[in-house]
Amino acid sequence: MKKAVVVGSGFSALASSCYMAKAGYKVLVLEKNEQLGGRASMMEIDGYKFDMGPSWYWMPDIFERFFADFGKKVSDYYELQKLSPAYRVVFGKNDFIDIADSPEKIIETFENIEKGSGKHLEKFMKEAQDNYTIAMQDLVYNPGISLMELVSWESAKRLGLFVKNISQEVGKKIKNPKLRSILEFPVLFLGAKPNNTPAFYNFMNHADFGMGTWYPKGGFNAVAKGMVKLAKELGVEFKVNEEVTGFEYQNGKAKYVKTNTDIYAADVVISGADYAHTESLLNGNRNYTEESWKKKTFAPSSFLYYVAFNRKVKNLLHHNLFFDTDFGQHAKEIYDTKELPKKPLFYANFASQTDDTLCEEGKDLGFFLIPVAVDLEDSEEIHEQYFQIILDRIKKCTGEDLSDAIVFKKSFGVKDFKERYNSCRGNAYGLANTLLQTSILRPGIRNKKLKNFFYTGQLTVPGPGVPPALISGKVVTDYILKHEEKILK
Ligand SMILES: Cc1cc2nc3c(=O)[nH]c(=O)nc-3n(C[C@H](O)[C@H](O)[C@H](O)COP(=O)(O)OP(=O)(O)OC[C@H]3O[C@@H](n4cnc5c(N)ncnc54)[C@H](O)[C@@H]3O)c2cc1C
Repeated sequence: MKKAVVVGSGFSALASSCYMAKAGYKVLVLEKNEQLGGRASMMEIDGYKFDMGPSWYWMPDIFERFFADFGKKVSDYYELQKLSPAYRVVFGKNDFIDIADSPEKIIETFENIEKGSGKHLEKFMKEAQDNYTIAMQDLVYNPGISLMELVSWESAKRLGLFVKNISQEVGKKIKNPKLRSILEFPVLFLGAKPNNTPAFYNFMNHADFGMGTWYPKGGFNAVAKGMVKLAKELGVEFKVNEEVTGFEYQNGKAKYVKTNTDIYAADVVISGADYAHTESLLNGNRNYTEESWKKKTFAPSSFLYYVAFNRKVKNLLHHNLFFDTDFGQHAKEIYDTKELPKKPLFYANFASQTDDTLCEEGKDLGFFLIPVAVDLEDSEEIHEQYFQIILDRIKKCTGEDLSDAIVFKKSFGVKDFKERYNSCRGNAYGLANTLLQTSILRPGIRNKKLKNFFYTGQLTVPGPGVPPALISGKVVTDYILKHEEKILK
């Protein structure tokens, strides 16, 4: 049997391992950490079960499409629930907007806040939906190798949307700053500032308002577990606590994969580990210099807090965005001046408000996230300082004093991203989707010197986020299978 070795077990690696196994390969997945799922790991302490990474389940169609490729359905592997309201955006003391679970209701919310904005939103959403259809049909499932991939009648008609940015597009008709910030929020998942993200990416607004926010029961880790189950059914073998440390080469190929404990023969190698880290293991066979990685625009890093509470949290929902400070200033601190933020925006998640399997009845768990610049120096003291900011702001905005309800907390920062995931510069979710880092301009899926070596994941095409990671796993495998004869020769 032909052998494929897959490095890492994030969503892109899991997806590619399933597709390779389906195509008849004997697949071995090597994961450095103690569990599978990459960023979607789960941390369990004293009966509290924390998702360590992703929490917003958007674009359910992409997950269905993935499982359908194997004759399965999402519901065969995990249970989904649509959140209603989807999320809360907090702007100040007792000042918030809840985003409902349907476009019609959201249009009504906008209209109530800014007269006339409802009809603008309706038009904007229609465009966002059209862009979503085009992106999914014509663009994101391409390998990012030829300019021709981008050329279709529908995409050509939208060239202007690659030159304009999201902020300009949103600001054209909607004037209320709160509504504007809500419409700019979805592209933050792409890792760049809204004014540095092509307007075409407003298809993320369709993902948000049009398709809704879903929750996989058991947390996002249940999705990773579901994919691992599928992979095992297809015959994929997994090894944890196996860090890939290098490769042995023969005739322009990576023939052996070396780990901290063993060595494995491979006909094809797919790395779903951080692209830049993978390159650091390739010696003279890398695609890009160490220097060039420093010039790229990475998605932010983050300060994360996993907090156990001894009671239920009031006045907040499952997903809460604290937009009670100026994002312009915070964005500058993330991308331009690369310093600790003075008044950061943050995200607060209380998944146990929806899911009673995550902790005991009558208790809650919280996950808090502050986006920060990559490469920041951080420490426990700095994390603590920012945790106090979060508690103060929650108290100020909602009246809820959470300080006396904390059972324990763990923080996670830039250094941890580097250590746990071998993440380049401590990025939390890959390489941003700016114009100059879109499609063929992103780091490529093929190694230019080793014909059997490929990359998948959030630093290559199509970009950051869980649905793109699933797509990335498919794209790389489709490419390999299409060129298999040449690759294996
Ligand atoms: C805090 C946070 C919140 C997020 N929120 C969301 C969200 O709400 N919705 C959403 O869609 N996306 C979200 N994302 C982004 C999303 O989680 C990622 O884009 C996606 O999971 C990346 O998948 P991946 O396969 O590219 O990489 P990863 O998940 O990073 O997987 C790479 C794997 O490779 C392993 N590895 C590294 N080096 C080696 C080595 N040498 N040998 C063996 N294994 C190695 C790592 O341990 C890791 O398991 C979030 C990310 C973070 C961090």
